[in-house]
Amino acid sequence: MRRNLLRERWQQLPERVVRQLQAEQLRRYLRTVVLPFSAYYREQFRQLGIDGDSIHTLDDLQRLPFTTKADLLNTATHSQKAREFVVIPDEQVLARRPSTVLRALLRGRDRVKKDFESEFRPIFLTFTTGRSAEPTPFLYTQHDLENLITAGRRMVEVCTTRADDRLLNILPFAPHLAFWLTHYAGTTAGVMMLSSGGGKVMGTEGNIRLIRNFKPNVLIGIPTFVYHLMHQAAEEGVHCENLKGIVLAGEKVSDGLRQKLRDLALELGASDVHVLATYGFTEAKQAWPECPSPHDQPSSGYHLYPDLGVMEVIDPQTNRAVPTGEPGELVFTPLDARGTVVLRYRTGDYIDGGLVYEPCPHCGRSLPRLVGNISRRSEVREMNLDKIKGTLVDFNELDRVLDDAKDIGSWQVELRKINDDPLELDEVILHVQKISGTDEAQISRELRNRCIAHLEIQPNQILFHTAEEMQHLQGVGTLLKEQKLVDHRPLAKTTGTSTTGLAIAPKKEAQPGKAEGAGITEVR
Ligand SMILES: [Zn+2]
Repeated sequence: MRRNLLRERWQQLPERVVRQLQAEQLRRYLRTVVLPFSAYYREQFRQLGIDGDSIHTLDDLQRLPFTTKADLLNTATHSQKAREFVVIPDEQVLARRPSTVLRALLRGRDRVKKDFESEFRPIFLTFTTGRSAEPTPFLYTQHDLENLITAGRRMVEVCTTRADDRLLNILPFAPHLAFWLTHYAGTTAGVMMLSSGGGKVMGTEGNIRLIRNFKPNVLIGIPTFVYHLMHQAAEEGVHCENLKGIVLAGEKVSDGLRQKLRDLALELGASDVHVLATYGFTEAKQAWPECPSPHDQPSSGYHLYPDLGVMEVIDPQTNRAVPTGEPGELVFTPLDARGTVVLRYRTGDYIDGGLVYEPCPHCGRSLPRLVGNISRRSEVREMNLDKIKGTLVDFNELDRVLDDAKDIGSWQVELRKINDDPLELDEVILHVQKISGTDEAQISRELRNRCIAHLEIQPNQILFHTAEEMQHLQGVGTLLKEQKLVDHRPLAKTTGTSTTGLAIAPKKEAQPGKAEGAGITEVR
């Protein structure tokens, strides 16, 4: 059984075998699950004149249509768009299958009926949570929950959690992938885990109390809140010597931030802490971790699960897959999902080191890995900085500039209109918390120089704040997810630009900030 080979040896297979087995599994998945039972894709494939048998090698995946965030959003004529992506089995089709007949003979009809229920009946859901639109529900069946548990178990394994570890999960308690994947990861691994619900549920003080009393080895949360909490704990003289790992989800993680978190851990008395990032999104129903690496060496990237999905890296201009190790946009196709299923989902996330297959230099696992920095299209914004024309500014880069600056702790980038006048030019305001003895004028000068060097723009103002003021600005304790990039420009500027056109037409990829609109903060 080759499918079992991909599942059982998910971390031991070379590129050629992975790609061959993935193509076989994709063909089988399209034939038996997606095309018979997904009304949306059946119609899409019919229009393109393709079917499951069109897949011979993994390169043939490129014949399938893309699915974008916009495809899942409700419109005036389609008020339940996400429902179209739910796999709904036709009982008669299932009943006629030889495999069904055989199983019914061997195990009884009731048992087969129960198995189908567990495979296809939605029983659980999470939501996407962009502020641009209504959250999109993603439905899970028992079969999907089992895959979520598998993903969670592997995450614990790759992060090298041990049975006697104590995990403190400070992710926001919400119907989001990150929280529930962590929940299942902890319970399936059989480790002691406490989920606090994050800053909004227990507040900073409540979470610090848990650090004092529960004494976690591993802290799991969103970077902004983890930073805030550890900073506050250090200020209060809290000790947490047995901390050995910090696992981050929901935001990009720069090397500068990793170093700052390790420095804070040192203040808490923990000298050898691994800071591990994870990457995942609602549409994939899974997330992928980094493995621990020596502190002086770069991360070896996100370790993917080849039996649960195919990750492609494409050139957003040509829409073609790029060679191994080349940068591009991430596109995901599940290989074993039920419930809500989206094929070739365009994430709008860009990886600069691409997809690689050689054995991991740190843990030795042989599986597909995503290496390098991930940038998000939602963080590229159009700015009117002069009277002539709009300029695209990549705020992904600003994250790195600010995280790498030694003198500042937490920060926030605010976009405004001069004097709040909608007809005026845009301005960029940096809110920063000083954490060193260096004087403010000196820090401002250095930040301005680095902004010009990396972004070719400079902030209009740099404002210094106390930790408490930053906490208030970022919404710690009041928002589910703290805010690092806020767009306070009036929305009127970007209405008239269709979000729908964004990811379908490749030419518009060059102007993502415009299409995403102002006031959107991506939350995963
Ligand atoms: Zn590794």
